[in-house]
Amino acid sequence: VPELPEVETTRRALADGLEGAKVRSVVVKRDRMVRRQARPGDFAQRLVGRMVESVGRTGKFLMTQLSEDLTWVTHLGMSGRLRLVPSPEPQEPHTNIVVTMGSGIDLRFIDPRTFGFMAVFTPQELENSSLARLGPDALDHLPTARSLQQRLANRTAPIKALLLDQNLVAGLGNIYADEVLHRAQVRPDRQGGSLDAGEVKALRSAVRPVLNAGLRWGGTSLDDLAYLLPDGSAGQYLDRLKVYGREDEPCRRCGTPIRRAMLRGRSTHWCPSCQK
Ligand SMILES: [Zn+2]
Repeated sequence: VPELPEVETTRRALADGLEGAKVRSVVVKRDRMVRRQARPGDFAQRLVGRMVESVGRTGKFLMTQLSEDLTWVTHLGMSGRLRLVPSPEPQEPHTNIVVTMGSGIDLRFIDPRTFGFMAVFTPQELENSSLARLGPDALDHLPTARSLQQRLANRTAPIKALLLDQNLVAGLGNIYADEVLHRAQVRPDRQGGSLDAGEVKALRSAVRPVLNAGLRWGGTSLDDLAYLLPDGSAGQYLDRLKVYGREDEPCRRCGTPIRRAMLRGRSTHWCPSCQK
């Protein structure tokens, strides 16, 4: 599942090709991919002829600013990815949306499971959507330790589940939440409200280094290669993960075998020695 580093890697790769370009035509092959649009026909109609002003991001959402105050929102869902290719290039399977730019380049949304979506929202629609409730971005607007501690106070849910709550902090998913908790040396099943000030500080300090490490390597492409960069290459962070996907392998800090268990339905990895 693409998380902040994968979406930010995608954003950076798209910005050069899209910013300043005009949308020439749009083809939606699966209506399900524009299901968040109140009237599905609005999607293509609002995009065509608009100029891309900037490609932005909040959490796991790409937020592309268009002319006339429209916001083009993209969520990659479970298995979605974007490609930027010359229009004549053959389309691969599961290419569900094609946005052709005036420059002769296609932005293609490939999503076998169709959990992802695209929509073009007016400012009012954006304000009324669930996106308005997203928490601060984990990379660009990480809350202070004090603010984080206030948000965690009295929370009985496991800290791992709270890190996955996009309304608390936006951008962390299953892989990077495990990595952050390992770096902070906090057990994933601790109740959020039980963390003391020092632990919250350690947790807060762990977020950006982990996300930046993922970014440096172009994100994490798992063995299924569901996530790839817009040029079709794979992210290289998988082999550098500290705990995720490393059950029974030695902790890179202390050598203790990494444990894995299901926590609230999510596969969770941690070091039983390092993490308290
Ligand atoms: Zn360890």
